[in-house]
Amino acid sequence: MAADDKNLVFGQPLIGEAEIREVEDTLRSGWIGCGPKTKRFEADFAAYKDSNCALALNSGTSALFHALDAAGIGAGDEVITTALTFVATINSIIHVGATPIIVDVDDETQNIDPAKIEAAVTERTKAILPVHLAGLPCDMDAIMSIANSHNLLVIEDAAHAIEAEYKDKKIGTIGDFGCFSFYPTKNLTTGEGGMLLAKDPAHLALAWSRSAHGLSADAYNRYTSSTFAHYRATEVGYKNNMYDLQAALGIHQLARLEENWQVRKSHWMQYRNELSGIGLTLPALPPSSVRHAYHLFAMRVTAEFGVSRDEFIKGMNANGIGCGVHFLSIADHPYHEDRLGLKSGDYPVAEKISAETVSIPLSAKLNAQDVARVIEAVRHVHRGG
Ligand SMILES: *Cc1c(COP(=O)(O)O)cnc(C)c1O
Repeated sequence: MAADDKNLVFGQPLIGEAEIREVEDTLRSGWIGCGPKTKRFEADFAAYKDSNCALALNSGTSALFHALDAAGIGAGDEVITTALTFVATINSIIHVGATPIIVDVDDETQNIDPAKIEAAVTERTKAILPVHLAGLPCDMDAIMSIANSHNLLVIEDAAHAIEAEYKDKKIGTIGDFGCFSFYPTKNLTTGEGGMLLAKDPAHLALAWSRSAHGLSADAYNRYTSSTFAHYRATEVGYKNNMYDLQAALGIHQLARLEENWQVRKSHWMQYRNELSGIGLTLPALPPSSVRHAYHLFAMRVTAEFGVSRDEFIKGMNANGIGCGVHFLSIADHPYHEDRLGLKSGDYPVAEKISAETVSIPLSAKLNAQDVARVIEAVRHVHRGG
């Protein structure tokens, strides 16, 4: 790791010279707000995803929020989602005034269990919000079939899964909405940022307006239009757009996305090959019907390993290696436990994973020596070091 030889920080982004030059160009151009580079990034992203349009926003959380909001989901509505995700997934449902209905995950894939979705559907259910955890696609055939039979929308939380595909379909384009995060640790980063895809362009136009003060849709081109036009607010909106300094990073991060994916895939495979047989449950190889995004290498520290998950993290930190926990189960957060009335034991699979899971560094910034160092540190902690 170039930045600091002593400590290998978890989730470091790989920022190249092209990104740095584009940010500099933006700073010198006189236009740093939302403008031509944001438009270009949206167009490039839509093309990458085989989507007709895309809306760049200030975070992945905003993408989830504006998807739910544009779908008209609010008070009195229920949205079914997973017990094993980042709190942002749940919070976006709470932010629009709807009720998150949490269901347990599958023990092997760690993704939402479709059989449990079916059992949670009520007459108030409006949408299913699956999360493609760690970059492994959810069972989308099963999820789409439940959605179709109950007339529900599907909003994909694809924060980990930008490069992922399910049966040759791009993740984030299978449901009605696809939500992406460009947080620093994600596969593509704009510092902070997010992107929203929608199957229905009217949904995306509404999300645009709501994310930009509630301006009428004809104001969309106000930055680039050559003729003067007033823009008028037709409702009270939010202020959640992306701007050109972020997009300057995004354009070049997107251009190197596949290259970075190859690097992470190779690290992921090496971890899987070299960390077996010491009491860690390693992630399964993805089935050939899907393309994994290799966002995380999340493994489970079982009793056989000899130390607890938390002791494992302390041991790795003592060896200068940062780790992550993806994630504590939703029932493990005091706020959500209280607000949603969750009880310990309601989600046995997610709670077990929550107690055992740990993610070791998997950035495209890691070189072969870094990966060897992580592997050696895991073995060292296993031996009691
Ligand atoms: C990172 C993340 C988000 C939120 O993205 P932000 O850009 O940080 O707002 C949502 N869902 C999941 C699963 C995430 O990991």
